[in-house]
Amino acid sequence: MAHLSETETDRSSQPPNGNGLCPLKVLIVGAGIGGLTAAIALREQGHDVQVFEQSALATETGAALHIPPNANGILRRLGIFADEFGANPMERITEYSAAGEQLRSLDLRGPNKRWQHQWLLAHRIGLHNNLKAIATSAAHGKKAVQLNTASRVREVNPKKATIVLEDGTEFHGDVVLGADGVHSVTRKFVPGGDVKAFPSGKSAYRFLVPKDAALNDPVTRPMVERPGEFCIWYATDRRIVMYPTSNNSTLNFAVIHPESESADQAGNDWTQTGNLQRMLEIFSSFDPAILKLLGKATPGSVKVWKLLDMETIPRWHTEHLALLGDAAHPFLPHQGQGAAVAIEDAASLAVVLPLGTPVKEIPERLLLYHQIRHERASRIQEFSRLIGQDIKEKALDIQGFTNYNFGHDEWDNST
Ligand code: FAD
Repeated sequence: MAHLSETETDRSSQPPNGNGLCPLKVLIVGAGIGGLTAAIALREQGHDVQVFEQSALATETGAALHIPPNANGILRRLGIFADEFGANPMERITEYSAAGEQLRSLDLRGPNKRWQHQWLLAHRIGLHNNLKAIATSAAHGKKAVQLNTASRVREVNPKKATIVLEDGTEFHGDVVLGADGVHSVTRKFVPGGDVKAFPSGKSAYRFLVPKDAALNDPVTRPMVERPGEFCIWYATDRRIVMYPTSNNSTLNFAVIHPESESADQAGNDWTQTGNLQRMLEIFSSFDPAILKLLGKATPGSVKVWKLLDMETIPRWHTEHLALLGDAAHPFLPHQGQGAAVAIEDAASLAVVLPLGTPVKEIPERLLLYHQIRHERASRIQEFSRLIGQDIKEKALDIQGFTNYNFGHDEWDNST
């Protein structure tokens, strides 16, 4: 901290509040799920928070995502509840072969299948809008978070806790949090972080179908009629994942396949449109009833993107800068933990940076954050990779529910 005088290192850039404790000035890069959750959690601590988001947030895209119990508990603690963003609980998991034969099914509603909080299935836009609304309203006597849209950050100075936008405008804070997703710009300002995500070898078609469209068809009805049911159809190197979201009104599909089969269509972001007919061809060896279900997608609504992976970076912090969420540890989607671990990171940052934190302590508190989070996230990152691997011969036995750590749950094959 040689660059700062003793007085500067001791004091926050903000005046003390009524209790004589100085709030920190927190600059967050990226208003995704992790960035907005961090903004809410740090604002709840009493800090002065500004978020800088590259997009206008006018036309949010995205399909559904998981909010497993580890994340739902944190959201509830922050006053963010499922009914406010249209999530429904995951009630059952069922696995099928590509021929449509049910392999096993697990009812998550039974008395021995409980977590402390429900496992939710949510539309990303619903969750995102809710987080944005909560962050930008004054609550519990705390100031609203200042959300700056169309503000792409191009540079961070971790020593000075400054950020520079594309247009050259500079902002100074006490701490900078890089929540700018898989293609993070802030990551490269952390030693060892100048790495890029790379295609994992698999791509996914993503789309939503109104549940009624599948319920009204006698061929597809049996596959979709149970509420909250998460289904997977497996073949060796491809799989179809389907689950309901938005209060069980919409079906979300992630149709995962070898990257080479849609290479001319798939991009590295969430916006590339895929070809419905090609998707059906890629899955032509699957049961015709499943193909009929996939065929309910509206042409033009199908997106396709490469599933990206990234090497584990050695550290997530330096001086007054820390990374969180996909910027620190992008996950393959096979365990549904991407948003969840970003939410965990966000909450952890608020814990290590309570109101009254002296500015000179920030670097060591960010080290503490790294120490409590890095191993857990790295394990989940690795586990998500393993789950996504191609299934070899009889490996279906180890695929599936064991991935979800249900411990002593018993198979229920009666349904
Ligand atoms: P993200 O949620 O990806 O948020 C990162 C944010 O940072 C974005 O808003 C981005 O615009 C912003 N940003 C990036 N660079 C800069 C910069 N230089 N300056 C300022 N802002 C910047 N996951 C799913 O499972 N299903 C989906 O359907 C899905 N759809 C998505 C749609 C979009 C538009 C985005 C951005 C992400 C989507 N994801 C989806 C990813 C998922 O939200 C994340 O994997 C997970 O929630 C971790 O969140 P995060 O906050 O770390 O990153």
